[in-house]
Amino acid sequence: MHLKRLELIGFKSFASKTVLDFPAGITGVVGPNGSGKTNVVDAIRWLLGEREAKNIRGAKVEDLIFAGTQQRPRSGMAQATIVFDNSSRFFPVDYAEVAISRRVTRDGTSEYSLNESPVRLKDVVDFFAKSRLGSRGLSIIGQGNSDIFVRATPKERRAMLEEILGLRQFQLKKHEAERKLQNTKINLDKVEAMVEEIAPHLRLLKRQTAKWEKQEELQNALRERENKYFGYKLYNIQGGLTGFEPQLKELDLKINTKFGELKLLQAELKKIEESQPKDNDGGGSQQRQNDILSRRSDLQRELGRLEAEADFLLANAKTDAKEGELLILVADVKKIIAAAIGENDISNLKDILQQLVGKIDEVLGAGNKDAHSRKQTLEQSRDKVAAELSSLDQELSELRLKEESRSSKLGEFNQIFKKAFGLIEAKKTEIAELSNQKNKLLFDKERVNIKLQDLENQIAQTGRRLEEFGASIAAEPSIGESDLSDMERRIFKLRAELAGIGDIDESLIKEAQETENRFNFLKSQSEDLGKASKDLHQLIKDLDKKIHTQFTGSLKAINDEFNKYFRLMFGGGKARLHLQKLEIKIPSLEDGEEVKVGESDVDEDVEHEVDHGGIDIELDIPQKRLSGLDMLSGGEKSLVSIAALFALISVSPPPFLVLDEVDAALDESNTRRFANLIKDFSKKTQFLLVTHNRATMEAANILYGVTMNDDGTSRVLSVKFEDAVIVE
Ligand code: ATP
Repeated sequence: MHLKRLELIGFKSFASKTVLDFPAGITGVVGPNGSGKTNVVDAIRWLLGEREAKNIRGAKVEDLIFAGTQQRPRSGMAQATIVFDNSSRFFPVDYAEVAISRRVTRDGTSEYSLNESPVRLKDVVDFFAKSRLGSRGLSIIGQGNSDIFVRATPKERRAMLEEILGLRQFQLKKHEAERKLQNTKINLDKVEAMVEEIAPHLRLLKRQTAKWEKQEELQNALRERENKYFGYKLYNIQGGLTGFEPQLKELDLKINTKFGELKLLQAELKKIEESQPKDNDGGGSQQRQNDILSRRSDLQRELGRLEAEADFLLANAKTDAKEGELLILVADVKKIIAAAIGENDISNLKDILQQLVGKIDEVLGAGNKDAHSRKQTLEQSRDKVAAELSSLDQELSELRLKEESRSSKLGEFNQIFKKAFGLIEAKKTEIAELSNQKNKLLFDKERVNIKLQDLENQIAQTGRRLEEFGASIAAEPSIGESDLSDMERRIFKLRAELAGIGDIDESLIKEAQETENRFNFLKSQSEDLGKASKDLHQLIKDLDKKIHTQFTGSLKAINDEFNKYFRLMFGGGKARLHLQKLEIKIPSLEDGEEVKVGESDVDEDVEHEVDHGGIDIELDIPQKRLSGLDMLSGGEKSLVSIAALFALISVSPPPFLVLDEVDAALDESNTRRFANLIKDFSKKTQFLLVTHNRATMEAANILYGVTMNDDGTSRVLSVKFEDAVIVE
């Protein structure tokens, strides 16, 4: 790779389009003071990505644009293009030539392009950094900066070394990573602060809503148990109720049948009652019998009196009968009377009495007339009484017969009546028993109905409908009583828990949900940022390690060369670049606190995390005692700087170097030495040298002479040392 061409339009004093072709090797730029030589260097520095106007000798970007002269109007824009030969693919792009253009207008527009494709300034800086080129450092050493390495701070020196060693790209990456890390940490802090702020509020909301989250769980559990509990009860009660109807129907049927039978029996009884024997069926009344018995008694008394009177007549009557005959008669009479006493039948008694009278008459004969007549009267009375007695007995006997017949009929009637009555009573008992059974069933049914009503009330209190429990029991056929009471207890417990939870506040739930979403979002952001932070830490660590390893690896070789060139230029002595052992602050990964670590304290594992210190220069000049670099003369400073530059480029040759009057402070012998060394280095590194030194000019392969035209614009002449050609 080498610098091939530089094109300028409107850039500072180069108002017209100016093209400088650079061959490999050394290009010298010469010309009088103020002709515009350094403007060429400024253009290259600007193209390599310089951001600050003061580094290209301007107060503002506008100063880069041709300002105009009395003869020539100012330009509206400044443009510069640098073209590299990339046939070796030094730049990691697939072009044989790489052209970087930069353009700035008076209205402040700034554009970059790489092979005519617009790119960002950052892309250009990265692009060159990867190729160990940059606007700062030692790639371009500006006018008056020949002692730059000595004047630079230790850190700046280190940056120069890193650029030449190709470590700048890693430093840039590292700085980018550090910048990102810083931003990430700021964002992380913000997010964590928000998380911390939101967390207690979320905890509070969660505590409030957790019970409601549980509510659904409890409601489901309650519902499930209610389904089983009420479903089972409903199933049993309804099942029980359906069992009553057929039984009741059967009982009603039986009762109706029995009532029918009872009716028949009652009709039968009525018939029997109607067939009850009447009083007159019994042949008169008891009264009649009593009357007869009373009359009979009177008559018997009358008969007794008549017989007594007859006996008296008989005793007093004058009879012809002998005493023996009378005694026989008395004995006979006695016999007859004795027989008559036991006789109840009136008619028999009459006959006996008649027989007795005949006997007596037979014995006694006619007696006397009065007695006889009396006797006849008595007999007539007696007959009459006897006849009446006989008639009464007859009537009495009939009455008794009738009475007996009636009594017998009544007995029969009573028997039948009793039987019929008994049947009715039995039927009534049967009906009563059936009615009892029915009442018991109705009572049981009513009890079940009450249970059902009670259950319906319980279900209504749950706010659910009866139909919801219809099918639930099929799945739980084996529920027992103990299960039921367990379920009931559990249902009460769940209801109590639910009651304790209270009503849901939807707005609070919404707020909790939104807060949780935000919390989760922030948390995931925090995690992402944490991870990014960790990754960036790791990247920085890796880059640091790489830079450190490569840097320290090269430092020894650089020191050897530095010492060599120093000795060459100072005719002896000793020079060394020394890595500072600084106390360096390391950002802590966890909490952002900074921990102070001395480099000597840094162990192998964390060493690479350290932002390594700068470079000190240790010199030992022959015949001089140096207490510091400030004691060096201007020329000595330039020599030390050049020795360091040569040391660096011999260890890590850059593709090109731009040196603007770096040899200005050198004495003749050192100028010659400088020119010779440049020649040596030009085998590997292309040089663009602005110089007033003849020795340096002689070393150049090509010389450009820069002159100032009459119109105040610069022009470039290609000079082959003697011949000068104007280049447009
Ligand atoms: P020396 O050898 O003294 O270092 P030089 O050849 O390096 O001089 P430069 O510093 O490159 O000279 O050029 C300076 C010249 O460029 C000045 O004459 C200055 O007026 C001119 N110049 C600088 N900026 C502008 C600009 N924006 N417009 C026009 N001319 C400019």
